Amino acid sequence: MRRTRTLAGFGIATVALLALTACNSGTPSSTGTSGSDEGDASSSTPWTVEEDVTIEGSPTFDRISSSGTVKVGVKEDQPGLGYLDPVTGERTGFDVDIARWMAASLGVDPEKIEFQAIASANREQAIVNGDIDYYVGTYSITDKRKEQIAFAGPYFVTGQGLLVAADSDIASVDDLDSSTTVCSATGSTPIQNIKENYPEVKTKEYDTYSKCVEDLKNGQVDAVTTDEAILIGYAAQDPDNLKVVGEPFSEERYGIGVAKGDDALVEYFNTQLTDGGDIWQQIFDNNLGASGVKAEQPEVDPVG
Ligand code: GLU
Repeated sequence: MRRTRTLAGFGIATVALLALTACNSGTPSSTGTSGSDEGDASSSTPWTVEEDVTIEGSPTFDRISSSGTVKVGVKEDQPGLGYLDPVTGERTGFDVDIARWMAASLGVDPEKIEFQAIASANREQAIVNGDIDYYVGTYSITDKRKEQIAFAGPYFVTGQGLLVAADSDIASVDDLDSSTTVCSATGSTPIQNIKENYPEVKTKEYDTYSKCVEDLKNGQVDAVTTDEAILIGYAAQDPDNLKVVGEPFSEERYGIGVAKGDDALVEYFNTQLTDGGDIWQQIFDNNLGASGVKAEQPEVDPVG
C-alpha cells in the first residue's frame, strides 16, 4: 500500500485546528425551556436542575449531596462530543451536555460541576478510585470494563471507522495491511479490535486521538481509527485534508461510567435517559445535528 503523502501546509496544524475550532465551537443554540444557566454561551438548555432529589442506596449520590459538587470525567479534545475550547475555555459537545443533564437531574447547579479530562486508558481506574463521580466520554460498554465498573445507558450507538488524508487510497478497513500504520488511543476498544482482528496492520498509540490526527496530517501514520462519531468531528474541522472512509466495522454503545455496585445511580440515570422526553434529541441536534452523524436514542439496558 502506498504510504499517504505528507499533507502540505500542516507545519501549523495546531494553529489551523484552533482557528477552525474557533469558527465552529458547536455552541448549543437550543431554544428549549431554560431551567439552568451555564453562565457562558450555552445559556439556554433543554434540561432543568431538579430540586429535592433523593436516591436511596447510592453511595455516589450521598457523596455528591454532602459536598454539593459533582466530579465528572470527560474528554476535551473530541469536537462535537467532548471539547474544551482553548481560547474561550468553554466546554461543548454531546457527551458534555449529557453529563450536564445528568448533573442537573441530581440537583447540581452547572457551576458546581467539576469537569476532569481523563484519557481512555485511565477511565476505569478513575472511577474505581473515586476520583470522579461518573464519566461521560465516548465510553463503550464492554463486559471487560463491567468487571471493574458499571454503566448506565447506552445513550448513543456508533461504530468504529477510519480517518485518512483526503488524497489517501485507503477506502475501507480491508485496505489496511502490513505496510500501513494505524493510530488510535491506548486502552480503547478500536485499538484492541485492530490488534485482535487485523494483527498484520502496524499500530501506533497515544493517550488521545487528537495526537493521532496530528500524526495523520504530518504523514506519520496512514489512518486514525476510532468511533465514527469522533472521526466525523475531526474531519469537519479540516474537510479539505481529511475524510472518513468505509463502513463502520464494530458497534460501540456509549454508557455513563459509574462505580461498580451503585445500581441505584445506574437506575436513576437510566430513568432520566428513558423519561427525558425530547431532551436527548435536543442535545443531539445542538451538538451533532449538522455533523452528518446519524443516530437515534437507543433503549437503555436493564441493570445487572
Ligand atoms: N468508544 C471507544 C472506547 O470506549 C473509543 C473511544 C474512546 O476511546 O473513548 O474505547
